[in-house]
Amino acid sequence: MKQRSIIEPFRIKSVEPIRMTTREERECFLVEAGYNPFLLRAEDVLIDLLTDSGTGAMSADQWSGVMRGDESYAGGRSYYRLLDTVRDIFGFRYMLPTHQGRAAERILFSTTCKSGDVIPNNTHFDTTRANIEYVGAKAVDLPAPEGLRPSEVHPFKGNMDVAALEALIHDAGADRVPLVMLTITNNSGGGQPVSMANVKAVRGVCSRYGIPLYIDACRFAENCWFIREREEGYAGKAPRDIARELFSYADGCTMSAKKDGLVNIGGFLAGNDEKLATQESRLLILTEGFTTYGGLAGRDLEAMAAGLEEVLHEDYLQYRIASTGYLGRHLTEAGVPIVQPPGGHAIYIDAAAMLPHIPPRQFPGQALVAQLYLEGGIRTVEIGSVMFGTTDAQTGEATTAAMELVRLAIPRRVYTQSHIDYVHEVVGDVYARRDEIFGMRMVWQQPPLRHFTARFEPLKERARA
Ligand SMILES: *Cc1c(COP(=O)(O)O)cnc(C)c1O
Repeated sequence: MKQRSIIEPFRIKSVEPIRMTTREERECFLVEAGYNPFLLRAEDVLIDLLTDSGTGAMSADQWSGVMRGDESYAGGRSYYRLLDTVRDIFGFRYMLPTHQGRAAERILFSTTCKSGDVIPNNTHFDTTRANIEYVGAKAVDLPAPEGLRPSEVHPFKGNMDVAALEALIHDAGADRVPLVMLTITNNSGGGQPVSMANVKAVRGVCSRYGIPLYIDACRFAENCWFIREREEGYAGKAPRDIARELFSYADGCTMSAKKDGLVNIGGFLAGNDEKLATQESRLLILTEGFTTYGGLAGRDLEAMAAGLEEVLHEDYLQYRIASTGYLGRHLTEAGVPIVQPPGGHAIYIDAAAMLPHIPPRQFPGQALVAQLYLEGGIRTVEIGSVMFGTTDAQTGEATTAAMELVRLAIPRRVYTQSHIDYVHEVVGDVYARRDEIFGMRMVWQQPPLRHFTARFEPLKERARA
């Protein structure tokens, strides 16, 4: 029997209009924004693939949870619902709600890390790296080598290089490595999953040196679905059971619920160490809020608890991963070079391969981002030398990133298949005239996280070799 389409496992109850603009209008908007998509107004965007963070649609159940939210200052019912949910799915004893993932990161790193420490990760997310560097520690990326080869198909390109981890701990000394992190899925490395075998192997190294393992759990459900689809021994297993096993190898996690929590705001920090949880809660109270709300409203906690349940539904995960794969397949058929295989939450166009005439110092990813907006009102983001490169304030000397990618992040439960068809048509049209695209010059920047506010100008000629 022919396989039927995997459909959106929901119907639409409330709609939000989106507005088409003219090319002339978009040219003006882009100049005003300094060619930085973060500085565009969202209403001037037709299809917004800037991020999958906090941009998802909540379910009817979550919205009714918003009304049920208990707004007590201390000990609210919604807090206990979230605590029970986190304990059940993740298996950690202590949970501190935070307003989003980076607050959990800041609290974790300020309590566990000091100047001179080294924190390895498969690939640090930008806020994770920034929060580690803010306390004077060093953030080191140890992706498995296949993760750095965009066109290579491998089932678990998000894995950590376990031998490199062991070497790093050996060189730095275990006492300078307060924790090891694993980001699932590996966002900056292409939205690629980490295998259960890799989590276990990393756990093994951590145990040998007595170092705690923390998971950056933002897209844990998507990662668990990939394990079910691709790893021996997990076919047909419930995503929830896979999640339970995965987190049983860890000592704690940071979570941005704006991703696989299916909410617009929220996060948490969880772990098993009582003494550490006490120290962390002191900092939480100082800057976020009391331990039973952590800077969120009770209704946010309620929606988060419901979202963490819904994200593990099999029909949701099947649709989610299939719809990202659908975009990837169409772009590949059009000849557009993307990171293979498609990740969970996003498609990453390999801008270095698509625009080989633009050198990294002229930001090929940023140039492509501008073209996708001009051509079809689609907002995307550069993940390359704008995000990860640096410019020395004194010498003007610039460093560039290992890869020049453009991310098309898919918000959860927001766009239909015809929206996605429109996206691959626009990308295909830009691809057809790729030889006419010039690079960009960064005219203003403010580190750290310069990509949020940097301003650019398009170059008027090709780089000289
Ligand atoms: C989004 C994200 C974070 C930070 O979470 P915020 O909610 O944006 O603060 C950390 N790690 C990864 C992998 C992420 O995708």
